[in-house]
Amino acid sequence: MNKHRITVAKGDGIGPEIMDATLEILKASGANIEIDEIEVGEKVYLSGNTSGISESAWDSIRNNKVFLKAPITTPQGGGYKSLNVSMRKALGLYANIRPCVSYHPFVKTNHSKMDLVIIRENEEDLYAGIEHQQTDEVIQCLKLISRPGSEKIIRYAFEFAKVYGRNKVTCFTKDNIMKQTDGLFHKIFDEIAAEYPEIENEHWIIDIGAAKVADHPEVFDVIVMPNLYGDVVSDIAAQITGSVGLGGSANIGETCAMFEAIHGSAPMIAGQGIANPSGLLQGAVMMLNHLGETDSAEKIQNAWLKTLEDGIHTADIFKEGTSKQLVNTKEFTHAVISNLGLLPATLKGVSYKKDAVFNLPKYVKKAPKNKELKGVDLFVHWNGSDANELAAMLCPLENDQISLSMITNRGIKVWPDGFEETFCTDHWRCRYKPANMGKINYSDIPKLMNLAIEHNIDVIKTENLYAFDGVDSFSLGQGQ
Ligand code: NAD
Repeated sequence: MNKHRITVAKGDGIGPEIMDATLEILKASGANIEIDEIEVGEKVYLSGNTSGISESAWDSIRNNKVFLKAPITTPQGGGYKSLNVSMRKALGLYANIRPCVSYHPFVKTNHSKMDLVIIRENEEDLYAGIEHQQTDEVIQCLKLISRPGSEKIIRYAFEFAKVYGRNKVTCFTKDNIMKQTDGLFHKIFDEIAAEYPEIENEHWIIDIGAAKVADHPEVFDVIVMPNLYGDVVSDIAAQITGSVGLGGSANIGETCAMFEAIHGSAPMIAGQGIANPSGLLQGAVMMLNHLGETDSAEKIQNAWLKTLEDGIHTADIFKEGTSKQLVNTKEFTHAVISNLGLLPATLKGVSYKKDAVFNLPKYVKKAPKNKELKGVDLFVHWNGSDANELAAMLCPLENDQISLSMITNRGIKVWPDGFEETFCTDHWRCRYKPANMGKINYSDIPKLMNLAIEHNIDVIKTENLYAFDGVDSFSLGQGQ
């Protein structure tokens, strides 16, 4: 049988120690893999490469398509780009999967029955990284939620639940506020959930959902959410299992996949040989399942559970009373190896499905909707404070076809009929709509812009207002 060729990077800080430990366990388990090693991270950054990765290292990952990565250190300042973000985007790793499980009573936690999986959209949302300073006082970051991005991650979550025998998928959004962006994510969740009637589904508003995760994580099974919420909630969930040092993470794309520990390079304890290799090992177990090496994955996971259960613990999880033996990285590694082939007695042993197939069809573009121009928002940089004054300045821009219908400041309607109490910045959204129930044409927009320039109005950007299939698809002013 051909060996699976994978790319491995030992990373920085405790990276080399925990990667050596992980590879030793993989080898002892009989995993059918062959390794190509690359260098990424601090050394590459400091050699003058601001991306932290060389062309040949990219080639290795793209050829092998499976990458096991130890944590890296991103040097502070100096324009160094986050290699983790670059990897996810460049390789199209759209799904981030983080199982968060508690190992009560062997690892101290307040949540004895926790066993959830967070599935986070990994490429878009506020992490598209599109930011602009527009006025002295206001900077904008664009939150992009796409139909393909949402469909892919939500379908992945339901397929994950189906393949791994999970009963429920929960969606977290903030669509009571972000009705368009988070509203789309929620809507697509409902659409896809209907294709999986055997799996329970529910939606929570993210704030109360996150609070519930922190307090009663046992009520959740699989949780899917947009990028930023997933980033925050998955760290909370990992931490409350007892230690971030125990969690692994998979980043899955259509062709490539990257597996890692949740935690960072822990520079404070680097070189001391005391780090817990469990997080990276958990990433490696997910990798073995991804490669179809389920026997090795099962063997390692059960041996690891037994080692935890035997109370053989590294310093980060060692507790007098619960733990039996304080061990260093090497001793822990050898304990796991000597348990290969054995099952845990109290913790639930694992049995992975062979030939698990995820049914993830390629995204099919939908037929374009009927798109109708309904108006335009002019965003204006103006240092005054009275919206009535601004409305008077904008009057000369009106004509028989278009008129000013509303001004907002940070989303709150301040004209007409604003409140004196509303605090205003120098960033104003001025909405123009057809006058007298008429229509607005695309050619009206440059005319409006030219008039704004003539009247010294500082327009920093415009945003067209559309109806799609007759439904107005833009936010109203708060208070409108
Ligand atoms: P960290 O996760 O490295 O450390 C947080 C705390 O947990 C520290 O006290 C550390 O000693 C401890 N810890 C972490 N992993 C451990 C392990 N396996 N065994 C025992 N203890 C462990 O987070 P940080 O200190 O915020 O970040 C350090 C560096 O790691 C930074 O440069 C950061 O950018 C980088 N980082 C990299 C990744 C990645 O490569 N995926 C992820 C997060 C942070």
